[in-house]
Amino acid sequence: MRLLWGDIHNHCGITYGFGSLENALSAAREHLDFCAVTGHAMWPDIPEKNNETEFLIEFHKNGFQKLAAHWPEIKETIKSYNKEGEFATFYSYEMHTSGIGDYHLVSPDDDIELLYAKNPKELLKKLSAYRAIMIPHHIAYTPGYRGIDWNSFDSSISPVVEVCSKHGCSMNDKSLYPYYHNMGVRDTHNTVYEGLKQGHQFGFVGSTDHHAGYPGSYGDCKMAVLCEEKTRDSIYNAICARRTYAVTGDKIKCNFTVNGEPFGSIIAAGNQPRVINLNVEACHFIDKIVLFKNLKPIKIINGEMLDEVNPMGRYKVRIEMGWGNNTDLYTWNGSAEVENGDIVDVEKCFRGRSVLAPSKDMKADDSVNQITNKVLQKSLQKVEWICQTVKNVSTLHPSTSAIVLEIDGSVNTKLKGCINGKCFEFTIEQLLQQGYTCPMKPYNSQTFKVYHAVPETQYKLNINLTDKAKSSECDIYHAEIRQTNSSCAYITPIYVK
Ligand SMILES: [Zn+2]
Repeated sequence: MRLLWGDIHNHCGITYGFGSLENALSAAREHLDFCAVTGHAMWPDIPEKNNETEFLIEFHKNGFQKLAAHWPEIKETIKSYNKEGEFATFYSYEMHTSGIGDYHLVSPDDDIELLYAKNPKELLKKLSAYRAIMIPHHIAYTPGYRGIDWNSFDSSISPVVEVCSKHGCSMNDKSLYPYYHNMGVRDTHNTVYEGLKQGHQFGFVGSTDHHAGYPGSYGDCKMAVLCEEKTRDSIYNAICARRTYAVTGDKIKCNFTVNGEPFGSIIAAGNQPRVINLNVEACHFIDKIVLFKNLKPIKIINGEMLDEVNPMGRYKVRIEMGWGNNTDLYTWNGSAEVENGDIVDVEKCFRGRSVLAPSKDMKADDSVNQITNKVLQKSLQKVEWICQTVKNVSTLHPSTSAIVLEIDGSVNTKLKGCINGKCFEFTIEQLLQQGYTCPMKPYNSQTFKVYHAVPETQYKLNINLTDKAKSSECDIYHAEIRQTNSSCAYITPIYVK
């Protein structure tokens, strides 16, 4: 089985978001393996209209109508982007509810109808002729304020839960990425940990919930799925089997098994020992890896302890571009090549313009995220790319884009690059000591940075552990990984009965 990457909850101009559907799917295809673009469809218990809620209610209702009016064409477009083996698309629409939280439907079926219901269960009952699931998202809002109601949660219609997005991280009250959107604060009662404590069994997914047609926008969360093939059926079946996990930014690769069964499994082991394996290939320096049993750490790896440097083997080098004071797109043309080594992998950390929800003063058109972010050419010796960036949203909210090269060689391998005419040349040995920054002009400058090389001894880890006996009727094993750049992975539990 292989790991594939996707975003199955994000929005564009098919409802009250911005940007065209075609543009969103084209952007997704460049850096993801699969994607759903979600239409806002209904809000059965929408708040009453008064002066304060008028804007909110109007833009929602207009969005719902827009989706209904164009549903057949939207489905045609989504279908046209599905290419078995290359890129998979899914149908998706969303139900807000104040009382039991927001859910989005995801379906692989071309004929899926747009229907209305009072709650997720009723909706799936009406759609029983089709394959579809309902995924709760931004679950940690306060009960009654569109956070999840764990009492009405049903894993038979919701095999997976969105644990992070642009809204923030919903794992627990101590997680990085608290909620700061105007919808409110992260509430302890509505977290993932709370749901697991109550005995619910589900998988973890991440998606952006982006609202301007840039699925998978770097840093806004996405999901991994472990499946056989890059096809709708294979990916959908893996999601239903909970073989998924969430990342906040970088595509941290993981395999996590108990007694040989992958994440998402529900297995029986009785009083027998549980043989645990966690294999991690991060994209940056590992800060921390924690293995949990029943939400309590049973193994903690601190990145500070990983200080070995391999003289040969693999290294990751990140090249990040952006900054400046420009609100219009600034274009980066880059190339990099290696001597005495190979570029074995290129990770794309591409961002779109960041939009979470419409506001009264926001104006945008279909071209809002018509951004050229692309790896143009890649061979073992050379990579060429183009990307476009705007100024950072704030000092704590970057708008940069990056690529991460995985290089196989030795400390003597040479990396040579040119970005917008500014050239650099370093050995891995030099990059293990220091990174390099290059401003493009004298003031308020766009800049690129070649980061410290990360040796594989500090981004790859294989952890084996045997847990001798059961602690409860159903033991929950899960893992969380954090890199020093704050990128996290939340790995779906294995439930052991
Ligand atoms: Zn949404």
